[in-house]
This record gives sequence, structure tokens and C-alpha cells, in this order.
Amino acid sequence: MSVINCNCCDLVFDSESKYYAHYIGIHKSTSPSVKKILILGGGFGGINVLNKIEKKFQNESIEITIVSDENFFLFTPMLPQVASGLLHPSNITIPVRYFCKKAKFLHASIDSIDLEQQLVTIQRSFDNKVRTLEYDYLVLALGGQTNFFNNKNLEKHSFTMKTITDAIAIKNHLIVMLEHAAQTGNYELQRTLLTFVVVGAGFAGVETVSEINQFIKKSISKSYPTINPKNVNVILISAKDRILPELNEKLSEKATEFIEKDRIMIIKNTKAVDADEENVQLSNGGKLSCATLIWTGGTKMDRVISDLNCEHGLGGRIIVDGSLRMKNKENVFVLGDCALIKDDSLNSYYPSTAQHAIREGKTVAENLLLTFKKQNKLKKFTFHSLGIMAIIGERVGIATIAGKNITGIPAWLIWRAYYISKIPTFGKKLKICVDWLTDSILARDVTLVGSIKKKEIHSIHINENMPSIKEQLMSNN
Ligand SMILES: Cc1cc2nc3c(=O)[nH]c(=O)nc-3n(C[C@H](O)[C@H](O)[C@H](O)COP(=O)(O)OP(=O)(O)OC[C@H]3O[C@@H](n4cnc5c(N)ncnc54)[C@H](O)[C@@H]3O)c2cc1C
Repeated sequence: MSVINCNCCDLVFDSESKYYAHYIGIHKSTSPSVKKILILGGGFGGINVLNKIEKKFQNESIEITIVSDENFFLFTPMLPQVASGLLHPSNITIPVRYFCKKAKFLHASIDSIDLEQQLVTIQRSFDNKVRTLEYDYLVLALGGQTNFFNNKNLEKHSFTMKTITDAIAIKNHLIVMLEHAAQTGNYELQRTLLTFVVVGAGFAGVETVSEINQFIKKSISKSYPTINPKNVNVILISAKDRILPELNEKLSEKATEFIEKDRIMIIKNTKAVDADEENVQLSNGGKLSCATLIWTGGTKMDRVISDLNCEHGLGGRIIVDGSLRMKNKENVFVLGDCALIKDDSLNSYYPSTAQHAIREGKTVAENLLLTFKKQNKLKKFTFHSLGIMAIIGERVGIATIAGKNITGIPAWLIWRAYYISKIPTFGKKLKICVDWLTDSILARDVTLVGSIKKKEIHSIHINENMPSIKEQLMSNN
């Protein structure tokens, strides 16, 4: 006699009908014949797939679940503006539940994926309990993580710029540095406290250095009369011979000009190789005394992605076919920063950007529907971004749009108009506009938010033998 193991609670059943009764009664309101779409990751890729399939799948019997370790979608292009106090943190975050019309959201971290058994193991955030989810179709959109290239000292002594917590921590730290510097007459100490080093001259690094430079200088002039602005050093370290290598050379030179005009020092052809509490060691033999080190130097894959039994390529990303399916797995789609997608027209790979993740989301949703309808011909992903842009100073931007270089105020305005249009809700758009507007007339806020008390609930005694809420409800009927 064959036995059936329940994927959710490990109970064993000797017949399908008993298992189905248990499954429907205890774990799900739907029958196992309903197809399950499981989306992993609530960032640009995951949310865009969710948005599209919520609309595309109308009468099909499907159950959609999205799992993410943050309960919100984060609009990363505006993250540096949170670190500089220009935007309020909650204005660039939108709860994942807002996007869930039919879908179920689970706030949990993904532990492992078994592609053979079609199972995903997750860990609930509130009590660390492990749970297994089954899927018929899997969407992988777990993004990437900050890469310190195994350098533990750099990891220990650097701030990162990836999450909303990072941006809040950086802003608080900058204020602490200003408060400390305001209290010391020791020139050496003040210089160390007022030296801010950003490693990595890609978009995240350049926008971060420019934002924190504005915050520090504006705050000193408004709120810290005892600090000599000449003691402030804001430094950008680039491993390459130019900043923003994603841009054409002319625009990259123009960006360098703007940044240096704002008195930010750029050190090129140099890597940060070691750090301690107050120093960063450079590959050119130099050492900088600094109390602030921000690392935007690289991206690596989450362990869940690296551990997957599939083909990985450049940077550990998962190799997908032109339809964004994992090789040899027709029911697994991969997109965003964790996918390696060949751009046949340029014989290279598509870059890892939010712009691309959004478009890939559209293709994945269309292909999910086609796969569901048992169509053999799926859509190919092709996208060529009309432009790239960055804000690199007060009312200063740079952009290349349809091959044309734009700089200064026009590029800054285009950046703001484009990115505000991409913010998912009207309410958040409005709040961001208010933040931008008030910043032109008011001083930046230097309120130091203290440490936030977090009550751990892991130790709350849970009686494992208690019936579940659902079981209790069923027994009352
Ligand atoms: C500071 C900064 C500025 C940027 N500026 C721009 C810009 O101006 N323009 C642009 O196009 N791109 C920009 N990017 C890049 C852009 O953010 C990424 O390309 C985009 O977010 C990729 O989308 P994604 O869905 O692959 O990953 P993400 O958006 O990172 O989403 C991944 C999701 O998976 C979740 N997750 C990860 N691991 C786990 C796990 N183990 N368990 C559960 N959940 C997990 C995360 O919490 C997150 O919700 C910027 C990035 C940064 C950091």
C-alpha cells in the first residue's frame, strides 16, 4: 500500500482521499488540484510578476503565494535620499500586502529550494519555525546581496546601502558624527569624525556620496556652528579609472566634474582592502582615517540561490533561457538581479537594474499564463532601456536618453519625473513630492533617533499539542 506524506506537517496517510480531506481541512481552503504559483522575493521582480498575474489570471484555478523576508517593497533608486534625510523612510516602502488582491503573503525567510520535489522551505519570522511550501510554478526573484569578497574586516566596519535599515542607520550615524565633532576642539579627532568614505563608484555609490555630502554640508551650516566645514572630507573610491562606468566616457567625465565641484574627492584605480574602527587601508598603499565607511563595492548571490542545483553563470547568477525559464525546468522562472539573461542583440548580458526587473516581470507573467495554458511557444524577453540617469548633486543630474547626453537641471528634473511615475501608489507619490518641496525651504532634520526596542517573542511558550485556530473553528461547528 502506498503512503502519502503531507508536505506541510509530515503526517502520513494511507489513501489519497484521507490526505485530501486533511489537506483541505487543515492547511488550505483549496483542493490540491488547484495549481500553485509561488513567488519568492518582494522586490522589483517579484512584485511586478505578482501585479501582472493578479490581472492576467482571471478564471483559472490557481493559488498565488508570495514570500519575502521584508513585509514591504523597497523603491531602491530613492534609498540614498533616505540616508540623507531628504525622504522619510516609509515614503519609499510599500507593504507587500498592498499588491495582494488574490495572493497570500508570507513574511518569512527562504531557507532552501528543492527543485526535484517542488518544495520550498521557509522560516517564519516570528518564531523561526520551519515550514514547507509546495509549488507547481516557481518564480525566483531574490535579488542580490552586498559582496565584501570574504573580507571580514571590511564587512565588520562598513555600512551597506541595500536596505531601508541601512539608509536609516547611515543617517543616524552621520548625525552622531556631527554631534561628536561639534564637541571636540581636537583637530585630528574632528577630521577623523568628519571624514566620510564611500567605496564603489557605480550608481549606488555615486548617488550615496553625493547625497551624504549635501546632508553633511547643509546640516553643518544650519545646525553646527562650532564645526569648521574645512575639516569635512567626503571621499569616493573607484576601482576603475573612471566613475559610473555604465555611462559613456563623455558623460562619466562630466559626472566627475560635477562631483569634484561639490568638493568630493575621487580616488580612482584604487580598492579598499582592509579596515578597522577608524581607518580604511587602500590598495595603493594609502590609509584614510575615517569614522564612516560605506561599502557599495559589489553584489553576490544569496545562499539560497548559490545552493540551487542548477546552472550558475557570471556572478553566481542563474542561467535562464530567452523566455526567462531556468534551464531544463519548464515550471521555474527566474528574473531580476539573480538571473543571468543573454542579450542576443548585443552578445552580452542584460544589466541588473530595476528597469530591467520590471520588464522581466511582465514577460514572466505572460509566460506563466502561456505555460499554464499548455502553449509551447513562450515570449522571448527583449528590452533596451531608453536611458540611464543619476542624481549627483543639488539640482544636478546626468542622463543619457536615446543616445543623447543630458546634464544639470534638465537631467535632474527628468530623473525626478521618471522615478516618481514609477512609485506604485498615489499616496506615496504625494508624500515624496511634499518631502522634495519642503526640502527646498526647510533645513534637514538632525534629530537623532535612538535605538529601537524590539521585543523578542521566540521564547514565548507555545503548546505544540494545542489545536490550530482552524481546527478549533471546525470543531465548534
Ligand atoms: C542604493 C541602490 C540604488 C539603486 N538605484 C537604481 C536606479 O536608480 N535604477 C535602477 O534601475 N536600478 C537601481 N538599483 C538596482 C535595483 O534596485 C535592482 O536592480 C532591483 O532591485 C532588482 O530587483 P530584484 O527583484 O531582482 O531584487 P530586489 O529588489 O533586491 O528584491 C529581492 C527581494 O527578495 C527578498 N529576499 C532576498 N533574499 C531572501 C530570502 N532568503 N528570503 C526571503 N526573502 C528574500 C528581499 O527582501 C527583497 O524583497 C539600485 C540599487 C541600490 C541598492
